[in-house]
Amino acid sequence: MISQEMLMLGKNGCIIREIAEYSRQRSAQIGGENVFDFSIGNPSIPAPAIVGETMQKLLTEADPIALHAYTSAQGDLTVRQKLAQNIKTRFGVEADPALIYMTSGASASLAISLKAIVNPGDEVILLAPFFTEYSVFVQNAGAQSVIVQCRKGDFELDIEALEAAINEKTRAIIVNSPNNPTGVVFSEETIRAMGEVLRKKSAKFGRSITVIADEPYRELVYEDTQVPYIPKFYEDTIVCYSYSKSLSLPGERIGYIFVPTAVPDAQTVYTAICGAGRSLGYICAPSLLQQTVAVCDGVLPDMTVYSKNRTLLYEGLKEIGYEVVRPQGAFYLFMKALEEDAVKFYERAKAYELLVVPSDDFGVSGYVRIAYCVSHEQVQRSMPAFRKLYDDYKKENEL
Ligand code: PLP
Repeated sequence: MISQEMLMLGKNGCIIREIAEYSRQRSAQIGGENVFDFSIGNPSIPAPAIVGETMQKLLTEADPIALHAYTSAQGDLTVRQKLAQNIKTRFGVEADPALIYMTSGASASLAISLKAIVNPGDEVILLAPFFTEYSVFVQNAGAQSVIVQCRKGDFELDIEALEAAINEKTRAIIVNSPNNPTGVVFSEETIRAMGEVLRKKSAKFGRSITVIADEPYRELVYEDTQVPYIPKFYEDTIVCYSYSKSLSLPGERIGYIFVPTAVPDAQTVYTAICGAGRSLGYICAPSLLQQTVAVCDGVLPDMTVYSKNRTLLYEGLKEIGYEVVRPQGAFYLFMKALEEDAVKFYERAKAYELLVVPSDDFGVSGYVRIAYCVSHEQVQRSMPAFRKLYDDYKKENEL
């Protein structure tokens, strides 16, 4: 008998991937230029030139056997030393290379961190809307997800709702800022307030509540937006980082987990992380990529296209009449559906060749996510379809 739990996960695939698959089929029928695919968060800009240059240099100059060999499970020590140095310089937080664990991207970082710190019966708070896979990782770690809704409208963290959700079973909270799917960046004031609540509740229940900071979009911000580095504001924070978005390398699978020395029992937490990585079969992060990010860590993405897309979509959709959340980071726009049921709205938008993701799998109803990591031409060409969709709803429903 196979695992019914895994069978269900396999059957109920990720909706984003399903839409992306539909997009491929539809493009084959009517031509890719006629399908406005805003479904998946694949960066649409190439990796910065230094990434390819570094890889080429490594491939031609490094010892080919060592370059492609297993590294230690935690990751190559010289790579971790370089990253620890960068963390200190960039964020002003003490970082010990012996507390950094190289991973195959943020998904692995999250799955490993959760597996390391939770026990059966524990609860993990997810702030809705959230990245669809969180609940899968929490379930796999043997814990229960508890959903706390962010404030409707600006989608900031709702401190009172968070406080009300914490109980003696609460073990961790996943915080993702800049956020997928809203593009919102939690303010420093919010992060400080969250820290105070978590300290108070940790003291009350006699167990520390860990923040898992999921940070793949840290460098993707607009204008002068600052993204607070959570370990500076709350001591029990584990950082899950990924280069998938900042260096446009989602298919290469590289990231890390950083356990700051200030985390209670940091060494024990780290040892459990090593155990969790082992139990999940990760062995080590890709060796060539580890060496590459040691050189490219901190290189900023060229935000020109994302920024142009953001402006055109945010201003354009607002002007048509849609209710949209102003993104401060990442490459997502969260838009209120024109009917209560976001899945129905998504189906309707499909008829206009607009492929957006209904918000239900993100833990919120009534919205859709528009991933604008696409060409600027696609955004331009899609605007009449968004307008027609709105006008047709208006005609039918007196919006
Ligand atoms: N966390 C968030 C918020 C994401 O949006 C994504 C990917 O889209 C991930 C984690 C997973 O990223 P990775 O490719 O590093 O596994």
